[in-house]
Amino acid sequence: MDARKVYFVSLGCPKNQVDTEVMLGVVRQGGHEVVDSADEADTLVVNTCGFIEAAKEESIETILELAQAKEGTKKKLVVAGCLTQRYPTELAAEMPEVDHFLGSADMLGLAKVLGGGGKRLGVSELSKRAYLYDHETPRELTGVRHTAYVKIAEGCDRPCGFCIIPKLRGAQRSRDVFSVVQEVHALVGAGTKEICLVAQDLTRYGSDLETPTNLEMLLDALVEVEGLEWIRLHYAYPSAVTDGLIERIAMQPKVATYLDVPMQHVDSDVLKVMRRGYGERAVLELAQKLRDAKTSEGQRLWLRTTMLVGHPGETPEAYARLKDFVSQGFIDHLGVFPWSREDGTVSAMKPGRVEEAIAAERAAELMQIQEAIRAERHAALVGQPIRVLVDGPSSESDLLLDGRHEGQAPEIDGKVVLTDGTAQRGDMVMATITQASAHDLIASLDPEAAAEAIAQQ
Ligand code: SF4
Repeated sequence: MDARKVYFVSLGCPKNQVDTEVMLGVVRQGGHEVVDSADEADTLVVNTCGFIEAAKEESIETILELAQAKEGTKKKLVVAGCLTQRYPTELAAEMPEVDHFLGSADMLGLAKVLGGGGKRLGVSELSKRAYLYDHETPRELTGVRHTAYVKIAEGCDRPCGFCIIPKLRGAQRSRDVFSVVQEVHALVGAGTKEICLVAQDLTRYGSDLETPTNLEMLLDALVEVEGLEWIRLHYAYPSAVTDGLIERIAMQPKVATYLDVPMQHVDSDVLKVMRRGYGERAVLELAQKLRDAKTSEGQRLWLRTTMLVGHPGETPEAYARLKDFVSQGFIDHLGVFPWSREDGTVSAMKPGRVEEAIAAERAAELMQIQEAIRAERHAALVGQPIRVLVDGPSSESDLLLDGRHEGQAPEIDGKVVLTDGTAQRGDMVMATITQASAHDLIASLDPEAAAEAIAQQ
C-alpha cells in the first residue's frame, strides 16, 4: 500500500487532543503524511466528541462536511472517538459514506486502516484492559512545543448521574509512574516547559494499578524532571483533594499554583441527585482550604471550577445557594454549563426538570457575577511582578506577545499580554502587571516602562 496523505479534524477536550496526537504519531510512524486540507488528502480522519448534545451536533456536522469533500473521489473517511464509541451501530447504519469507524480506545487501529485493511466497524469494547497510550506510543504534538497535555489515566469509575463519560471511555486505567515520567522527560528534552496532567479524575490516579500509587507520588517523581517548569492539574474530584495535594500545589515550585476541580454544585440535595457522593459542607471546606493555602511568598492559589445548572431537582432555593457560593469569591475561573439530557445517564430519568430557558438564565447570571470577581482579583495584581510563560506573538498585534501566568491554563483562563515584544515563544520571563480586565492582564518586561504605565493610570 502506498503512503497515504491524511487530513485530521480533532474535536472535543484536551484528552481527545492527546488521542489525536497519538493518531498523528501512527500516521508518521507508518511513513504516511499529514496534510493541511481535505482537498490534498486521500484519507480524512475526524476524532469526534460525544459528551453533550452540542458536541454531538458539531461532530455530526464535521462528518457530513468531510463526507461532502469525499463525494465523487476515492478518498477514505475514518470516524474515531467518543461519538462512535457511543453510537457505533447506529452511525454505521446511517452513514454509509464513512469507510471506517474506530472507538475511543482504537487509536492504533488507524495503522491497519492506512495499510488498506481494518474492519469497517473497528470499535473495541471498553474493558479494564482497554488501550491506554504510554511513553512508547508514537505521538506527535499539535501546536506549540513548550506546553503539552499528558494523560495519566483514562476512563472513570465514579457514578455521577449526569455523565456519560464512563460509557464512552470505560473504567479507569492508570499509566504507571515510570511511563508518565519517561514521557515527560522526552517532552522536556524536546522543549516542553509546562505539562498539563489530564484525566477524568486525577485524584483517583493509580488506585487501579497492581502496585497502588497516587497523584502525590506521581508529582514527587515529576518534580525531579530537570528543565520542567510547571505541572498543571486538570480535573480533581472535590472530595478526594487531600491536604498533601494542596501542600504540593502551594509549596512545590514546579507544581503550578492552580487546581481545576469541577464542583458541579453546592446544594446538598442537588449533589445527591447528581450522585456526587459529597455535600455542601465538603464543598465549603475545600473552597476554604484552597483559599487559605498560600505559597512561601504568601501568594494565593488559583481555583478553576465547573458548575452544572438546571440539573433535575435544582429548585430556586438550591440555585440561590449556588449563587451565594459563587458570590463569595472562592473561585477564580468558572465554567457554567446548563444541564443537557443525555440518553443512557441516570439524570435523564430524574423528575424535577428545570426549563431550558431558566437554566440558561442561571448560567448567564453566574458568569456575570464571576466576571466581577475575577476583575477584582486581577485589579489587585496591578503593579506586581509575575512570572509569564510566553506563548508567542499576540493574536491582537505582532508588536505584542501573548503569555500566561501560573494561574492561567492554556486556552481557557485568559492571557497576559506583554507590551514589550523582545521575548521568544517558550521563554519564562518576569514581567510587571500594568493593567487588568476581567479576562486578561497586560504586563511589561521593562520595570521602568511598567512604573510609568502604572503612574499614568
Ligand atoms: S468524575 Fe467526572 S468523568 Fe467521572 S463520572 Fe463524574 S463527572 Fe463524569
